[in-house]
Amino acid sequence: MKQSVCILGATGSIGQSTLKVLEKNSNKYSIFAVTAYSRMHDLVDICKKFLPKIAVVPEEKKDELYQLLKLNRLETIEILTDEDGLTTVASHNDVDVVMAAIVGAAGLIPTLAAVKAGKRVLLANKEALVMSGDIMMQEAKKNSALLLPVDSEHNAIFQCLPENYMSVENNNNEPKLGISRVLLTASGGPFLNTPLAELATVTPSQACKHPNWSMGQKVSIDSATLMNKGLELIEACHLFAISERFVTVVVHPQSIIHSMVQYIDGSTIAQMGNPDMCTPIAHALAWPKRIDAGVSALDLFVNNKLDFQAPDTKKFPALRLARESMQAGGLAPAILNAANEIAVDAFLKDKISFTNISNVVEETLNSLENAQANSLEVILDTDQCARNIAQTYVTKMGK
Ligand code: NDP
Ligand code: MG
Repeated sequence: MKQSVCILGATGSIGQSTLKVLEKNSNKYSIFAVTAYSRMHDLVDICKKFLPKIAVVPEEKKDELYQLLKLNRLETIEILTDEDGLTTVASHNDVDVVMAAIVGAAGLIPTLAAVKAGKRVLLANKEALVMSGDIMMQEAKKNSALLLPVDSEHNAIFQCLPENYMSVENNNNEPKLGISRVLLTASGGPFLNTPLAELATVTPSQACKHPNWSMGQKVSIDSATLMNKGLELIEACHLFAISERFVTVVVHPQSIIHSMVQYIDGSTIAQMGNPDMCTPIAHALAWPKRIDAGVSALDLFVNNKLDFQAPDTKKFPALRLARESMQAGGLAPAILNAANEIAVDAFLKDKISFTNISNVVEETLNSLENAQANSLEVILDTDQCARNIAQTYVTKMGK
């Protein structure tokens, strides 16, 4: 029997890489549903090639999509809309695997729906976990969902951990099973060697040019500020039930080692590979088996240099803010994430400078009381409140 897959965010960078891996393994997987937000032509191309049963788009795009599908004699594909449509496909009885690859907070409700429905959930949408870590992990456990990391670093960590790691309880977030530390690698982004004084004037197109990975705009900017690593630090703490004290960020500009786990006997285990998201996607799709990802093997005679350095949190304060948010716990990570989404959007629209992205985040964190993140309603209210406050700082700091 083929596994039936739903791709949330099929038109994005992760969505397209997922389609590539699925196409290579079409004897094992079929595509049940795909979702998109703005790129209707890309969605129709996907529908032509993969013939899903359902496509989900915003209500205001429904007519456009219907006309495009009709032109291609594909009007039998059912169109669902908005958050209801997303949660319907994410939790559908006919779906085995959900790729959670919507960008940002918009992915939270559908990803949680997939987790609550006990699916195999391939998690790319790190923002959803940053916002609701405790709830997401509790729901995964309660509903026997298999939450597998697609983010390359977390997928690497998962590969370096003992096989029974996820099923062994520890209630205090101390390392377990002989693990002493997790080393989360970071490329350092496009401004690793740019002097601090020049960062205030860098442009969105410079910031989007990642040295090793080709990604969506938001995660590219997050990589340039190092907020991506901050969000990943929080993601790692939740996924692997480990305190941030035991997670060290290591800048490794070549992006060949995707992360490491250290053990009490002095061993350091690393996962290596060419920087291509098809590898972690294929791993998460097939785990514990392995499938062809279409990625060439690493040539160590070519990639023969591995450098490491500590991150500069003076130059990249976003990483410090994320660590402090994780230390504070409660709603702080959700506030951090919401403010960052607003600030990144403002930077992309040329409304604020690059260095003001983390200033907006810091001011927003300082403006809101922290509290327990004990319900989804509280998290979503706080997300909205943080967005409103961040917007006022965007206006204040605006160009
Ligand atoms: P993209 O911007 O390339 O794609 C985002 C996807 O989400 C698109 O399909 C987009 O639709 C859809 N989308 C955007 N906004 C909404 C919304 N409000 N409601 C519903 N759908 C929406 O992002 P990436 O693929 O790069 O990233 C996706 C997630 O994966 C992010 O959380 C990112 O951090 C994470 N990730 C990405 C990596 C990468 O290499 N790209 C690596 C590791 C993690 P449309 O295109 O039609 O507008
Ligand atoms: Mg990553």
